[in-house]
Amino acid sequence: MHHFAYRNGVLHAEDASIEAIAAAVGTPFYCYSAATLRRHVRVFREAFGGLDALVAYSVKANANLAVLKLLANEGAGADVVSGGELRRARAAGVPAARIVFSGVGKTREEMALALDEGIHQFNVESEPELDALNDVAQSKGTKASIAFRVNPDVKAGGHEKISTGKAEDKFGVAWTRARDLYRRAASLPGIAVKGVDLHIGSQIADLAPFEAAFAKVAELVKSLRADGIAIERLDVGGGLGVPYGDAPADPPHPEEYARLIRRIAEPLGVQLICEPGRMIAGNAGVLVARVIYDKEGERRRFLILDAGMNDLIRPALYDAWHDIRPVREPAPDSARTVYDVVGPVCESSDVFARARALPPLRAGDLVAIMTAGAYGAVLSSQYNARPLAPEVLVSGGRFAVTRRRPSFEDMIALETTPDWLNG
Ligand SMILES: *Cc1c(COP(=O)(O)O)cnc(C)c1O
Repeated sequence: MHHFAYRNGVLHAEDASIEAIAAAVGTPFYCYSAATLRRHVRVFREAFGGLDALVAYSVKANANLAVLKLLANEGAGADVVSGGELRRARAAGVPAARIVFSGVGKTREEMALALDEGIHQFNVESEPELDALNDVAQSKGTKASIAFRVNPDVKAGGHEKISTGKAEDKFGVAWTRARDLYRRAASLPGIAVKGVDLHIGSQIADLAPFEAAFAKVAELVKSLRADGIAIERLDVGGGLGVPYGDAPADPPHPEEYARLIRRIAEPLGVQLICEPGRMIAGNAGVLVARVIYDKEGERRRFLILDAGMNDLIRPALYDAWHDIRPVREPAPDSARTVYDVVGPVCESSDVFARARALPPLRAGDLVAIMTAGAYGAVLSSQYNARPLAPEVLVSGGRFAVTRRRPSFEDMIALETTPDWLNG
């Protein structure tokens, strides 16, 4: 469910016309709907009512400070995977006590920062990381609260590049080693063992892999308790898919997913932590672009947009499918033209859609690339010396630019030419 719809023939984000925003901001730009973001957090709040639960929004999905602030205002915490994300979450007002720190390559500097901030939990992904964290915490005379991210060896995820829970993946500690590692961790002076964590993948389209993985992890919690290790938290990660419009069936509704989590966690008597990213932000955002040319190729017809793979890399990186809608509502009976929808970047992979049947579009028309709120702006780059697309947040009829388009001077501000090149 999202808040992008045609009104009086023009695509709106909530009560704000995309055309009006484009006129004010220029294209391309990302546009996010505050009501959609809020709604997604509330699904969890309602489903987990009465439980000790922490919704730690996965910052990497969309790290815009205004988005983080909005989610923090809704009571969400944050799941971060770098010191930079930790600082973003703090800058947006997420309390440190609601932050969990995941990732396979935390440096000692990042660990020190997180300990100084007083975060809720480190999700530890290897034995060498455990030892490093123990060292850093001891040197500060403190203890780091941890969960191990265990790898339940369950295959899940919409694409091989976003599957994380198989034995071959780099994430988590091996299932077969988990009990030994917990015993070791419990003996370390700089470590306070608190919980068990998992995250099996992303864009997962059905509940079965979650159910399989959660059931395995619930058994592990019981075994660890039998070993005398007090497990008081269960972090079930993120990964629920969102409908992009291409799959034969839509992913399960977030309410169903939240009910499944509740069913697993409640009997264990643990603090429940979840780390949703895509399902919070995915369909809360669109990328708006303008058609530059309608190019008749020898074999194909190309619709060339002013947004490119540097703005939204998901199609090039994950073969992702995004719905593309004209901002001016087409007549229901309008003819369709088959286009390859492409960007201006000098790469053959700069393609948003192949052989897509679209209503008539002309140079100057606006299009919206739907469901671009997660893993969109965060993965963008300035390749081809293209400025980062601005980000706009809509709430009701209001909109605000929450990241402006950099000027050319901004873009080159970090670079210098050495004196010895200046003749
Ligand atoms: C990316 C990530 C998430 C969020 O995944 P989504 O598919 O966006 O819900 C949660 N936890 C960890 C550890 C992650 O790396």
